[in-house]
Amino acid sequence: MKLIFEIGNKNRKLDLMPECDVPVADIDDKYKRKKELRLPNVSETEISRHYTKLSRRSFGVNCGFYPLGSCTMKYNPKINDEMAKLPGFADIHPLQPADTVQGCLKVYKLAEEYLCSITGMDAMDFQPAAGAHGEFTGLKLIWAYHRDRNDTGRDKIIVPDSAHGTNPASAAMAGFSVINIPSTEEGFVDVNALRNAVGEDTAGFMLTNPNTIGLFEEHIHEITSIVHEAGGLTYYDGANLNAIMGIARPGDMGFDVVHLNLHKTFSTPHGGGGPGSGPVGCKKHLIPYLPTPRIVERDGILAFDEKSDKSIGRVKSFYGNFLVVVRALAYMMTLGAEGLKNASENAVLNANYMLHMLKDTFDIPFGNGRCMHEFVISLERLKKEKSVSALDFAKTLLDCGIHPPTMYFPLIVHEALMVEPTETETRETLDEVIAFFKELYERAYNDPDSLHGTPLTTPIGRPDEVGAARNPRLRYYSD
Ligand SMILES: *Cc1c(COP(=O)(O)O)cnc(C)c1O
Repeated sequence: MKLIFEIGNKNRKLDLMPECDVPVADIDDKYKRKKELRLPNVSETEISRHYTKLSRRSFGVNCGFYPLGSCTMKYNPKINDEMAKLPGFADIHPLQPADTVQGCLKVYKLAEEYLCSITGMDAMDFQPAAGAHGEFTGLKLIWAYHRDRNDTGRDKIIVPDSAHGTNPASAAMAGFSVINIPSTEEGFVDVNALRNAVGEDTAGFMLTNPNTIGLFEEHIHEITSIVHEAGGLTYYDGANLNAIMGIARPGDMGFDVVHLNLHKTFSTPHGGGGPGSGPVGCKKHLIPYLPTPRIVERDGILAFDEKSDKSIGRVKSFYGNFLVVVRALAYMMTLGAEGLKNASENAVLNANYMLHMLKDTFDIPFGNGRCMHEFVISLERLKKEKSVSALDFAKTLLDCGIHPPTMYFPLIVHEALMVEPTETETRETLDEVIAFFKELYERAYNDPDSLHGTPLTTPIGRPDEVGAARNPRLRYYSD
């Protein structure tokens, strides 16, 4: 496909710049560009076709079923985008005086109030720009808490092997060393291993719940008590909140800190790099360490408060990705408390329906035929018997118009496919997908070779993913 600079005609001279409506400033020649600004010279039709072509080369939730486990690729109601587009939200400047953006500050306040009541936390901060950034921020709160109490020997974070991959990475980024503990055969935190791992050097414990095999930890109170009794704090990775919102609250389970992924659970289109929002919620004892500025109310006026001697400081310029918060608030307000609970119930119902329909065909090593919002299939047997890998299976799904599930994760399942149907799919779609899964499974046994060269219908088949990540070509060079 051609780049936009390669189509059109240099001599078309499209006058895209509007008339200047402010006085022209006199700028010293040395600051002026020497060469003409190179802009694409394309007609409106060409622009429209170019971007339509581009959009067809990628796969989004509006193209088809997108069961990318842990990523919650659900349909995002367009009303949320309408709200985020309102000029009062979209056309503001971060340096505008607080008294001119009272409505926007109110959005933060309301979102904080709602999310605190959903999670059982006492405060919520919206600076972090994504889930992993929220983890980093939450871990820094834990770090600051121990430091403030002169409890300086606590430098270890315990992470079960069923945690999301960002958990140990964020702990290391925040300056802790990471202790990995194994799961039980059933896929839960090994409580005895946790008991043995905690001690005077324990800063905290991070739990992804439901975990990456789609299970709700059975002994959650016992887990948080063990960590607290050892003097550590407890961190809840709440990116999978769409399995429990309106039903169970991390705060009631004994967690001190939680992060949420507004771009997943609370409905902002995501993938492709953002923008996201990973707000961090905490209990009272951690509020003093939250990033500044905090939004405070003084005589009925909302304002930014920069002062807090104990704060970990800023973690992002300005105040986080505001429009993602607007979308999340619109989502919460349209659904209401009952609607949010329904969303979770349907996420869990859809996953269990698929799991139930597939479990006689596929190996599903954990969960005993039950799951929360996602489940993990193992294709280890298929790989051994027919040399068809999880990758082959996933790539062939693309030819069926289905986005592949998350592959090779979690690491505790070999040839893993992690399937998260989400709450926004209909029974008809699920039935169609279930039929494709079964059909491909049969094909893998009868004609394994036909799964090796797939996909055949997409613009690119099997790119060198490592090469693309390590040596990306991000610049366009031309004369
Ligand atoms: C997606 C996810 C994260 C990371 O969130 P990002 O916004 O991608 O940084 C962390 N934990 C879990 C369980 C997730 O699903």
